[in-house]
Amino acid sequence: MAKFLIAGAGIAGLSAAIAISRSGHGATVLEQALELSEVGAGIQLGPNAMRILMDWGLGEAILGVGCEPTHLIVRDARDDHVLTSRSLNDQDAARQKYGAPHVCIRRADLQSVLLKDAQDKGANVLLGQTMQGLHDSRLVNFDALIGCDGLHSKVREQMLVGTKHGGKPRLAGFMGHTAYRAMVDMALLPLELRSQSVQVWLGASQHVVAYPVNQQQMNIVIAQEGAPTLASLMSAQLHALITAVQANGGFTEWQLFHRPPMLGAQFYAKGNVALLGDAAHPMLPYLAQGAAMAIEDAQALRQAVAREVNIDMALQAYAKARWKRNARVQIQSQMQGYAFHASGLTRFARDAVLRVAGERMTRMPWLYSYQY
Ligand SMILES: Cc1cc2nc3c(=O)[nH]c(=O)nc-3n(C[C@H](O)[C@H](O)[C@H](O)COP(=O)(O)OP(=O)(O)OC[C@H]3O[C@@H](n4cnc5c(N)ncnc54)[C@H](O)[C@@H]3O)c2cc1C
Repeated sequence: MAKFLIAGAGIAGLSAAIAISRSGHGATVLEQALELSEVGAGIQLGPNAMRILMDWGLGEAILGVGCEPTHLIVRDARDDHVLTSRSLNDQDAARQKYGAPHVCIRRADLQSVLLKDAQDKGANVLLGQTMQGLHDSRLVNFDALIGCDGLHSKVREQMLVGTKHGGKPRLAGFMGHTAYRAMVDMALLPLELRSQSVQVWLGASQHVVAYPVNQQQMNIVIAQEGAPTLASLMSAQLHALITAVQANGGFTEWQLFHRPPMLGAQFYAKGNVALLGDAAHPMLPYLAQGAAMAIEDAQALRQAVAREVNIDMALQAYAKARWKRNARVQIQSQMQGYAFHASGLTRFARDAVLRVAGERMTRMPWLYSYQY
């Protein structure tokens, strides 16, 4: 049995701990925070992520605290009119087509389910423990290090020093991208906004996403490129939604960061050290796939570690299995941002395409049907 040290207990670190423990190896997670508090409000788990979580036996626990949205509805932020919509849970949708449902959940609830399972499987999760990366003296007691320490990863900085993928992440875009996030009780919203659908409003240089995270609460994110101009998000529904949030705690502001995709397996793993989750591939949140890719990474790591006896070779196999997929999803997330935030003629063309082919385009089988 090999012993893995994991830096970070976010969704990536806890998923890696579950994956490693399930393949019969030892996992110790060091997390710098004193408690696993809620980082951000809600999260969507596409069928590609849910299929893996169900394979780990966590489907029921996740559905017990999260919810399955009924529809995806894309609207114009100027006047609420529907550009496209499709069912997310009918006969032909996620469960039947992709073998798993589309789920929305509070991040804190997802982390609790992952933490409990990691501990039940024997992983040791230690809070209040900052990892010093490759120079950490505790490493001598372990066979491998998995850097799941997020966007500002110390493990990555040290592992990739002197390469084109070393250094710090940069603010996204030319003008900066900001996410304003909030969670509200549905009871505080006007009746017509208490929806069980994932709703997206598209505006110039900005969009709004709102979805339920359980039967009582709704998660709202305004994504903005450049300086805030809430005035252009003034459809009747958005006005009501934003007013309700501002009257009940308001939004929390997050700057969005970016790193170019790593183009090669050699950047993901070196010797007995590998990167996983945002440490390897932070992405703009416009496909709602950052955490899903961390979960896919963990599943690939599990398979590689179960197949290869030699740890370094297992980490190389993991890196080879993941780098192209993650690069594609990072690039497509950026492209989705261009499409969501289009203005002028491009916006006109996008809306026309959405009206004609939106139902088919939003199914994205390349993303949700991925076989690992
Ligand atoms: C607005 C927004 C909306 C999003 N929506 C979605 C969505 O709907 N679906 C989806 O799949 N993804 C979504 N994402 C992306 C998703 O949130 C991230 O990809 C995911 O949370 C990354 O998880 P992680 O564990 O890699 O990193 P993190 O969550 O950053 O966790 C890293 C952990 O490492 C710890 N750490 C850092 N340094 C050290 C150290 N030196 N020693 C010990 N511990 C350390 C940190 O404290 C932290 O707990 C969204 C992102 C944003 C910004």
